[in-house]
Amino acid sequence: MNLDALKSTLGVGGYIDEPTDMAPFLTEWRDRWRGRTPLVARPDTVEKVAALLAFCNAARIPVVPQGGHTGLCGGAMPDESNTQIVLSLGRMNRFRSVDADAFTMTVEAGCILADIQVAAEEADRLFPLSLASEGSAQLGGVLSTNAGGNTVLRYGNARDLVLGLEVVLPDGRIWNGLRGLLKDNTGYDLKHLFMGAEGTLGVITAAVLKLFPRPAQQATALLSLPNATAAVKLLSIARRQAGDDLTSLELMPRRGLEFVVRHMPGCRDPFASPYPFYVLMELSSTHTNHSLQDDLETIFTEAAEHGLAADGIVARSEAQRQDLWRLRESMSEAQKFEGGSIKHDISVSISAIPEFLKRAIAAVESLIPGIRPVPFGHIGDGNIHFNLSQPEDADKDAFLARWEEVNGVVHDIVAELNGSISAEHGIGQLKVDEISRYKPAVEIELMEQIKHVIDPNEIMNPGKVLP
Ligand SMILES: Cc1cc2nc3c(=O)[nH]c(=O)nc-3n(C[C@H](O)[C@H](O)[C@H](O)COP(=O)(O)OP(=O)(O)OC[C@H]3O[C@@H](n4cnc5c(N)ncnc54)[C@H](O)[C@@H]3O)c2cc1C
Repeated sequence: MNLDALKSTLGVGGYIDEPTDMAPFLTEWRDRWRGRTPLVARPDTVEKVAALLAFCNAARIPVVPQGGHTGLCGGAMPDESNTQIVLSLGRMNRFRSVDADAFTMTVEAGCILADIQVAAEEADRLFPLSLASEGSAQLGGVLSTNAGGNTVLRYGNARDLVLGLEVVLPDGRIWNGLRGLLKDNTGYDLKHLFMGAEGTLGVITAAVLKLFPRPAQQATALLSLPNATAAVKLLSIARRQAGDDLTSLELMPRRGLEFVVRHMPGCRDPFASPYPFYVLMELSSTHTNHSLQDDLETIFTEAAEHGLAADGIVARSEAQRQDLWRLRESMSEAQKFEGGSIKHDISVSISAIPEFLKRAIAAVESLIPGIRPVPFGHIGDGNIHFNLSQPEDADKDAFLARWEEVNGVVHDIVAELNGSISAEHGIGQLKVDEISRYKPAVEIELMEQIKHVIDPNEIMNPGKVLP
């Protein structure tokens, strides 16, 4: 690899090659994957990204795009061959324009999600995408994984919040699709190819985002439930009563709450007695002509009458709201203190969730007696993070060595229920082998053909998404 020519293409300040400076780009959140690279490219304009890709394409140098590196499937990590260039988009972080009347904002890929939310707020608008990793995740990564998060029920996934994209293709051509139109039926909607592609088709450098009116009021409650079926029924009541004001509905199991209370400083069980499940429900509205707190109480009353909810707590202040959300957002972190955890990010149709939980819990308990299921997540989207903590006295490494075996059992049940083995985190390198097993052959073939047309030299993020 002619590194000097590559460096001169990027220019002064456009790359890092000192091992200590590159280390953060090669360290990921779960410390699950290791990678090596001779150089981290850090271009600050779309033209420099284009020059880099044209160079790498001609020289057949693989490129691994990287945003905030919070992805959970190893998608932004190079392999260990030391032949793949990491392309960090962090310096492409300009807010190009805001059009408050059109409810749009044009933003570069390296902007941090939380900063985008603030910029929208400054224009008296809402950018609703919200994830626990929003302080680090960047727009390019969020779009490339089609991230979900806490407001999908109301606003959709990341791809639903985009009106246009700017993408650098593997051969260095720039596709400027930043038209920002609500209506544009002029053939294939190409932007959807790049969103969710996890950097395997090109590099997203900017996007036109949809903005929304800011809610004038918000109401949040934690309800305790006898079982998961009650959560599905509660969703149905809440949608009927609150309509589009229902913004989030998040499930937490008793064991998850116990882990959080045990390990996360400042978190406490808000109820006097234990319950099998909890649901965190949030309503938001631009209207002020009725109280959302009243709506929450109506939902709770109806749920209680049907034996679906045993107890409920409504947040009376922003601090109380944050406390309730912290219980939910700490669910994953708290499991780290309980030893090894085998994870799944599945979705099934919402009404199939109770059956999924019943079958999957029975299957893993029979496979590994003493295993501790902690199924939590975005139940309003049919998306459960089916995490399994090791038995209390088990050896962590021996437990984690059974990761694929356990995944196979759980994912087979998901497939039987016509669900997805990756609801929101993507495929990356984690699930490359599984995608061929669970996706219909015709879908894989089409994906391979699309990949071949757009990236014939296979320089974009090799080893990710496709086998
Ligand atoms: C605590 C925590 C909570 C999370 N919660 C959620 C959640 O609720 N919902 C959810 O969906 N995810 C969640 N995630 C996963 C993760 O935050 C998301 O996948 C996020 O979208 C990744 O953004 P990133 O900038 O960190 O991307 P990275 O991890 O850097 O990259 C992710 C993928 O996108 C590619 N990529 C990055 N930038 C570009 C670009 N500009 N052009 C082309 N390809 C690119 C990379 O090559 C890689 O394949 C969570 C992660 C953590 C650590």
